[in-house]
Amino acid sequence: MSSISRETTAIVLNSRDHGESDKIITFYTRDFGKITGIAKGANKSKKRFLNKLELFSHLALSYQQKTHSSLVFVIEAELHSSFIEIRSNIESYVAATLIREVLLLATVEGEGDLKVFNLLHWALQSLADQRSDLEICTVFLLRLFDTLGYRPDFSHCCRCGNTFDVAEQYSFLQVGAGLVCSRCKEKVEGTLRDLSTGTIRLLHSALTDPLDRLHRLKFSRQAIRQSLPMLHSYGRSIFQRDIHSWKAVKKRLA
Ligand SMILES: [Zn+2]
Repeated sequence: MSSISRETTAIVLNSRDHGESDKIITFYTRDFGKITGIAKGANKSKKRFLNKLELFSHLALSYQQKTHSSLVFVIEAELHSSFIEIRSNIESYVAATLIREVLLLATVEGEGDLKVFNLLHWALQSLADQRSDLEICTVFLLRLFDTLGYRPDFSHCCRCGNTFDVAEQYSFLQVGAGLVCSRCKEKVEGTLRDLSTGTIRLLHSALTDPLDRLHRLKFSRQAIRQSLPMLHSYGRSIFQRDIHSWKAVKKRLA
C-alpha cells in the first residue's frame, strides 16, 4: 500500500489511549481539515510526543497517510503553543470544550477549510489571553455556522422583508434562521427568542468584522444571555444532536 507524507499545522481536538503505549488523536488541521491519527508509542516515548499531544495544543504536524485508510500515522509533532492557560482555567476550559465538541460534530474528516482553522485558532488564543469566555463562545458559534453555510440573517424581517430598524422589536425565528418583527410575530410558527436591537447589532458586527477586530466588540451580560442560548438551540437544530458540554456553559449564564 502506498503512502503520502504530509506536513501541516494542527490543533488537538481529541486524544485517547489506545492499548498501553499508543494514542489516537483527532486534529483540526489548517490544510486538510479534521483528521484522526495514531501516535505510536506516545505513552512511552519520552522525547517525540511528550506534552505535545494534549488537548488544544497547536502543533506543526508531520504524518503519513496510507491510501484507503482513514487513520493516519503521526510521525512528529512540534509545539507552536500548548495553550496551557486554557487547561489551567476552568472557565476557559469549559468554553474550549464546547468549541471542540461543536467542531467535532460539525465537520467531516478530510475536508479542509482555512476559515474554520483560523476561527478555531482565534478562539483558543482569545481564551488563552483570558478574554471573556462566553463572548468567545458566542462569536465562535455564530461564525462557524456562517462558514458552514448556516448564516443567520440579522438584516431584515424574514417574513415581511422590511429592513432592520432600531425602533422596531425583534425575535429570532430558528426555522427561518432570521429575525421576525413585532408585527409578523403572531403570524409565524416555531421557536422565537426575543433579541434587543443592541444584541442584534452586536451579532451583526460579530459576523461581519474581521477576526482581528472582534476583540473590540463588548457583549453585555444581557446580550450574552440572549444570544448564546439562541445559538446553542440553533446549532442543535442544524446538527440534530445534543451538545453535551452545553450544560456546563449554561451554568455560567445563571
Ligand atoms: Zn416583519
